[in-house]
Amino acid sequence: MKRDFKKILVFSAISIAIGCGKTSEEKTTAATKESEEEPLNIIFMVGDGMGIPQVSSAFYFGEGEPNFKQFENIGLSRTSSTSHLITDSAAGATAFSTGKKTYKRAIGVSSDTLPLPTILEQLKDRGYQTGLVSLTSITHATPAAFYAHVEDRDMHEEIAKQLIDAEVDFFAGGGKKYFRTREDGMNLFDSLKAKEYKLDTLELSKPNNDRRNAYVLTEEGLPSKPEGRKDFLQQASKLGLDYFAANNKPFFMMIEGSYIDWGGHAKDDNMMIQEVLDFDKTIGVVLDFVKAHPNTLVVVTADHETGGVSIGKAYDESGKEIPQQVQVYFNTDQHSTELIPVFAKGKGEELFRGIYENNEIYHKLMQAIDEN
Ligand SMILES: [Zn+2]
Repeated sequence: MKRDFKKILVFSAISIAIGCGKTSEEKTTAATKESEEEPLNIIFMVGDGMGIPQVSSAFYFGEGEPNFKQFENIGLSRTSSTSHLITDSAAGATAFSTGKKTYKRAIGVSSDTLPLPTILEQLKDRGYQTGLVSLTSITHATPAAFYAHVEDRDMHEEIAKQLIDAEVDFFAGGGKKYFRTREDGMNLFDSLKAKEYKLDTLELSKPNNDRRNAYVLTEEGLPSKPEGRKDFLQQASKLGLDYFAANNKPFFMMIEGSYIDWGGHAKDDNMMIQEVLDFDKTIGVVLDFVKAHPNTLVVVTADHETGGVSIGKAYDESGKEIPQQVQVYFNTDQHSTELIPVFAKGKGEELFRGIYENNEIYHKLMQAIDEN
């Protein structure tokens, strides 16, 4: 009902605008629209290295139905970069964050190394709260592409510096060494405190709702699941979402399940599967939030597939097929260029159907915000 009402108002505004320029009625309509519906919250989830085989593994190796099953609007994206058909996380995340494809290793810059505005920066300018959660160093390629602009993904110390300037409201991940053991001798933890951040370097404590919150918990990345990581990804995501909801302003949040990729590079099926299941569990947490806060859109995708994975027959020691078991096979320890699934739920979810380039995801997110 509410949506239909809004549509009628918008149509009348357009006809008035075409007929006789700006009228008082049009201004009233715009005001009505604003007060009726807050801007859309965006949760963007990246399972680094998560192609369709990785998603499939949740259906064969997990317990119960995966949360992936809750999505009804699903598309596929083509991930190539401008320099290589097979991309990396830097070019992949820059395509998502800026709407432009770029060269491998680029962070928030165009193919001629010029800085490009990111979705996080643009929405911040529109009054959005911003958040980043990653299992890697918070300066690693995927999170960095949302706030930093550097020519090469390995410029961690410069990226950390740019994170201070970006004034992200909530971030959680690893990477202490890039903040406090730096070549320039700066201590960026002091810089965060000078900006009145609540900084925690030990644990995911309760955020301070009146301040920005930073959690940098490990020297580099957090441990993987097989190394004993507990529920960091679910907890950090939930803390961030509750913080944003308490502050009653729209928000953009990126959540990365980083080690699906690392499982692929290591050709470690146990690591890959455990990380996919952990990411799926986090999707469950996020979808619960979307149910309680319907003015939200969640998009779950990946930058590329890693490992050239297939799920095939399992055999016993004598070489006999085990009919009710399957096994993960790796074809490479590198990224591949398979089409990547895009799952969407919430307002604007239908925009994500079809097959498109990875940078279109940025434009679809912006379109969802403008239309909802
Ligand atoms: Zn990788």
